Amino acid sequence: KIVLGIETSCDDTGIAIMDESGRIISETLITHSQLVADWGGVHPHEISKAHKKTLDGAIEETINKSNLQTSDIDAIAVTNGPGLMSCLRTGVEAAQQLSQRTNIPLISVHHLEAHLLIARGLSKESSNLQFPFLVLLASGGHCVIVEANGIGDYKFIGGTLDDSIGEAFDKIARLLNLDVSVNSGGHEIERIVKLHDGDPKQFKFPIPMMGPKRSEISFSFSGLKSSALWQVRKLENSTINNKELNLLVMNQKNKSQNPKLNLSTKVVADLAASFQSTAIAHLVDKTDIALKKCKQNRNIKDLVVCGGVAANMLLRDEMQTLCNKHNFNLHLPPIKYCTDNGVMVAWAGLEKLKSGLATSDVTLKPRWPLFEYTINTSQDA
Ligand code: ATP
Ligand code: FE
Repeated sequence: KIVLGIETSCDDTGIAIMDESGRIISETLITHSQLVADWGGVHPHEISKAHKKTLDGAIEETINKSNLQTSDIDAIAVTNGPGLMSCLRTGVEAAQQLSQRTNIPLISVHHLEAHLLIARGLSKESSNLQFPFLVLLASGGHCVIVEANGIGDYKFIGGTLDDSIGEAFDKIARLLNLDVSVNSGGHEIERIVKLHDGDPKQFKFPIPMMGPKRSEISFSFSGLKSSALWQVRKLENSTINNKELNLLVMNQKNKSQNPKLNLSTKVVADLAASFQSTAIAHLVDKTDIALKKCKQNRNIKDLVVCGGVAANMLLRDEMQTLCNKHNFNLHLPPIKYCTDNGVMVAWAGLEKLKSGLATSDVTLKPRWPLFEYTINTSQDA
């Protein structure tokens, strides 16, 4: 089987053609980072316009590069949720048009399921990864631990009480005035730490939820973000105004640039390193509890860490250490396929075809929790 995948749920236009062995036949990825940087966040209207502008060309290019005829393609998989309504709509409409034109059936793909299933398609030990397994999804919009029991069958274990971890990385990158016009904030935080030898011990930010809530499996990043903001302003000998605190805490989009920081590059790298190591220590602390619980209750032996933040090398290393401690197998998608892409959507489509659980209902679902999502077993794709 061969599937074409279309991903437009957020700020990346991703198209790919893949076969059921996990071979990527061709792929195209267009990121709209410059627009995100210009608007101080993902502006749905602007980004959906960018998807619209690039999508048809990207689909055509991907099909051309594959050297296949459209008649060789068995299905078109498209992300129909969760994500930004106008962005999802662009992808779904393009998929519907292509489907009508070519008579190729559609397959609905849940964006988060695509993030986690790609670990079965492309991680090093992918062939060994069978259900059930535990998943830490650390992305731009989510920070959640789920138990994966089968395609479309996920149980909620714990999630974030405020921001996702990716959002926290993005906001701190903006606070530190990093250039996010080419790559994401998370990517830039990791880069500046490496490039300027950022010292995570230079600033002590408290690891979230180490008090009475220590044993709870939930995440929180608002305290850590505020600590970072206070530290930055203290170093600059300036005070925080309420507007700024609101921006950091509430994720309001504004087009204005942050004020230029009066800090040396080394201090910025130290701040970035301290933030990064604390945020990741928090993920490790909570995943540790989830793994312990898992060992007691069920015989799960595999952990998938996925979503954009799973591209982070420190997180990958720390999760490997944690899995060694608990005797778990760690499954990480290749770095390139942690953030949004068309390949994971094509792969999710293939998984659904193989399991007989593909559905062609691509109704837009901007809010669509993974653990509430159960497969409708009518097989119509
Ligand atoms: P969701 O998948 O929850 O709907 P999304 O699709 O916007 O959200 P992803 O593409 O999965 O998110 O991930 C993007 C996030 O990953 C961004 O917040 C970005 O800062 C973060 N990220 C990317 N690379 C890295 C990295 N190397 N280190 C830390 N964070 C990173
Ligand atoms: Fe995503």
